[in-house]
Amino acid sequence: MTEPNGFTAAQLFAASQSAITYNDIILMPGTIDFGPAEVDLTTRLTRDITLRRPLVSSPMDTVTEHRMAIALALAGGIGIIHYNCTVEEQVAQVKKVRRFENGFILDPLVLSPDHTIADVDRIKATHGFSGIPITEDGTLKGKLAGIVTNRDIDFETDRTRKLREVMTTELVTARKGITLNEANEILRHSKKGKLPLVDEKGRLVALTSRRDLRKNRDFPDATKDAGKQLMVGAAISTKNEDRDRLDALVEAGVSVVVIDAAQGDSVYQHEMIRYIKKKHPALQVIGGNVVTPRQAENLIKAGADGLRIGMGPGSICTTQEVMAVGRGQGTAVYYTAQAARKHGVPVIADGGISVIGHIVKALALGAGAVMCGSLFAGTDESPGEYVYRDGVRLKVYRGMASLEAMKAGGGKRYFTESKDIKVAQGVSGYVQDRGTMFDLVAYLTQGLRLALQDLGVRSVAALHKSLESGDLRMELRSASAQREGGVHDLYAYTQPDSLSNSRNG
Ligand code: IMP
Repeated sequence: MTEPNGFTAAQLFAASQSAITYNDIILMPGTIDFGPAEVDLTTRLTRDITLRRPLVSSPMDTVTEHRMAIALALAGGIGIIHYNCTVEEQVAQVKKVRRFENGFILDPLVLSPDHTIADVDRIKATHGFSGIPITEDGTLKGKLAGIVTNRDIDFETDRTRKLREVMTTELVTARKGITLNEANEILRHSKKGKLPLVDEKGRLVALTSRRDLRKNRDFPDATKDAGKQLMVGAAISTKNEDRDRLDALVEAGVSVVVIDAAQGDSVYQHEMIRYIKKKHPALQVIGGNVVTPRQAENLIKAGADGLRIGMGPGSICTTQEVMAVGRGQGTAVYYTAQAARKHGVPVIADGGISVIGHIVKALALGAGAVMCGSLFAGTDESPGEYVYRDGVRLKVYRGMASLEAMKAGGGKRYFTESKDIKVAQGVSGYVQDRGTMFDLVAYLTQGLRLALQDLGVRSVAALHKSLESGDLRMELRSASAQREGGVHDLYAYTQPDSLSNSRNG
């Protein structure tokens, strides 16, 4: 049976006895009467957190640490810091995001007057910069004593000379709390390259430079809280010892916690959610992962403010094969979103996103946002170094239940209690270089706007409304329809990178 204008989601899912994945469906176009720039991608992550872009980065040790979380929050999404590390390390990551101030370096490298020019040379060689503040005791919070720049040391032949003999001590400084514009003005007048910021006692608190200010862009869509700080999430497990981790994260200013479990509907998680909501009522809690309305209802009943949906769709995931449990992601997102919507709780479609079309379909099936691992793992801001293989620039990307990650401290998500017997539910591999998160999010944003324009809806909220009203129509794709929709019948063609902004693509 076919329908002239396609089926509503309710009709389509009710008629299908198989799991439906993103690739199995296609959305019917609507009527366009607006431009792509008018499309608003504002969405809800949890009951209380709104994002300007429906993008979340996975809590994985090859995806989200502070650099990813800062870049994604600036661009309008949010990063979830992984917990494959000590409490102290995770807290330090969260603090770096919360303390971030656009254009200001809050933890500049410092030296003491007793260091030598050779020490500056070393920093220059490893970090590539040379304007170094000198504090009396050589610590970050120490009293500012001077600054050493190229001009002070360029022509010095004796590299063992102490910095106290060569550093500039007539300093132009500014008080902490000044705005970027004010810093700009001071640098313009003083004609200096660096501007140290000090507190009332003359202690160094931050550094800004002509170059940073020039690089600095405006981020009008940044995900910030009422205190104008970037928002950040952090993952925790359901284990009792993670109650201490939770308290430390709250102390560090975390905006939302994600309880990380492959099968989230457990008494341990119910208990953890109840505990968090009682102890930290203002903290937003995302529960998961779940794939059925029954699981979703249980977590919402326990107090979850958002849900993470997916069991098995991840690019590095072998859960469905190994455990025989999971669900096709399209079906999982549609039914859980329907159930959660009744309670005003948004859901995040987690895993299996490799092209813009998957994000569009996830949103069209009711998700408020998507969570991405592989898509973001190849960017400059993910942890780890680039490597080359066959001339292609790559980064390591691994499942948190891969043997490699479990060895490094993971396995918390998968009830792997035994030290000796590990059942891996993920693999380790490589993803291609994707350039910077800023370029990638700009590309995804434009793609999403064009897709929503094709659907004839001006916003994510309107898309959800059209899903509910039945205005949004869709169809299943036969195997040949999928072939027809891909590239075919060419003698040769340039393999399109699904993300054309890639440096290699
Ligand atoms: P991707 O975006 O398709 O690469 O999927 C990322 C998602 O896979 C994460 O957000 C997790 O939900 C999930 N995941 C992470 N590590 C593992 C694993 O080792 N096994 C199964 N799923 C995983």
